[in-house]
Amino acid sequence: MATASFDSAPGASRALPAIEKAPEVTALSTLPGRKASLVGLTREGLKQALLGMGVPERETRMRVSQIWHWIYVRGAHEFSEMTNVGKGLKAQLADHFTLERPEVVTAQVSRDGTRKWLLRMAPTGAHDHNRGAEIECVYIPGDDRGTLCVSSQVGCTLTCSFCHTGTQRLVRNLSTAEIVAQVVVARDALGDFTGQMPGKDGGEPGRLVTNIVFMGMGEPLYNLDAVIDAIAVMSDQEGLALSRRRITVSTSGVVPQIERLGLEANAMLAISLHAVRDELRDELVPLNRKYPIAQLLDACRNYPGLSNARRITFEYVMLKGVNDSDADARALVRLLKGIPAKINLIPFNPWPGSKYECSDWERIERFSEFVFNAGYASPVRTPRGRDILAACGQLKSETEKLRARARMMLEEGMGAEAVYADQVD
Ligand code: SAH
Ligand code: SF4
Repeated sequence: MATASFDSAPGASRALPAIEKAPEVTALSTLPGRKASLVGLTREGLKQALLGMGVPERETRMRVSQIWHWIYVRGAHEFSEMTNVGKGLKAQLADHFTLERPEVVTAQVSRDGTRKWLLRMAPTGAHDHNRGAEIECVYIPGDDRGTLCVSSQVGCTLTCSFCHTGTQRLVRNLSTAEIVAQVVVARDALGDFTGQMPGKDGGEPGRLVTNIVFMGMGEPLYNLDAVIDAIAVMSDQEGLALSRRRITVSTSGVVPQIERLGLEANAMLAISLHAVRDELRDELVPLNRKYPIAQLLDACRNYPGLSNARRITFEYVMLKGVNDSDADARALVRLLKGIPAKINLIPFNPWPGSKYECSDWERIERFSEFVFNAGYASPVRTPRGRDILAACGQLKSETEKLRARARMMLEEGMGAEAVYADQVD
């Protein structure tokens, strides 16, 4: 497992604020007496579950592919739906396991079709008061695609100064199954499984969830084993069948893990850059003190599979008077020279207690124009889902506490939804 080291530990520099805070808990286990769900498991995980139940090894291959189809193609909720699985095995499965998904606590739909779900994971023990940790998942429909923004951790151990998620107390890694289950819940809610919508059987006309971005809560490269396995499940062509070219993983810059992401997940890469000088990036993205810009860009240049057809997305949050000058735009273009790149300008999404403001629209437009004139496609997209505050990584309970001013800014269109813009075609 990719484990974080903790610079806030004794011996770390006292003068600087901590880069990382300790996770509350990292391990996940099912509570005693509670049946585990098969939803979200890898093929290997499913095989082990069947073996553990006493299914003979020689049968597992066939059984895994049958159950796999029911879970990931048909979206089955009950073992009784599995018509090609024998009665005895179905009963045995129901005795040992469930097909439960994370609980949908709230579901909101924006006027523009953006949807946001607050999901409660199965309880894991005392640290979550046996209540289950909560995460958010957002679906953004587009003309020719539908993008699902998923979380990889509950909270985040990193402490980027402009990010609300980083202030959250409870932090733990999500399991592979919990990451994949977000896609299953979205397909459930959208009627996006085969057979759920008229005209969907057979020919598969137009899936609704076509793209995945790991831009919800958490730092995916601090939970890389689970993220790699989750991407394998999501992109299995006999299952959820998403293309790896349509799966983007966003990182704040965990340099030593970037190559592995490319080699083992073959996913698209997004980098939360946000600043062009180390001094400023140290403050905005404290992980920069460990892996400064030059190292980060080297890792980008060496990203496996990088080409003009597979560009890296550089995310840049627009902070008024902080990183939004013409000089910053010029330096940004200079810095990325030679890297096949897209630049994603994100209007800052304010939250209670945040010390930044979003850049004015004219400034964002000018910045964007500069970047565009340098040859990068970087339109600032119309913010989506602003009436339901669909900014990924902000729990509903938290968003409800938004101050009136912050709310007003969001309603004026200052959402973080442009995060999802500029996905691969
Ligand atoms: N931890 C990963 C992925 C999750 S954050 C990362 O940092 O890349 C997804 C994106 O949202 C990142 O680019 C992050 O910098 C950005 N973001 C976080 N808080 C934001 C805010 N308040 N307004 C706008 N974008 C924000
Ligand atoms: Fe974590 Fe990403 Fe937020 Fe930084 S921006 S605190 S890495 S979720």
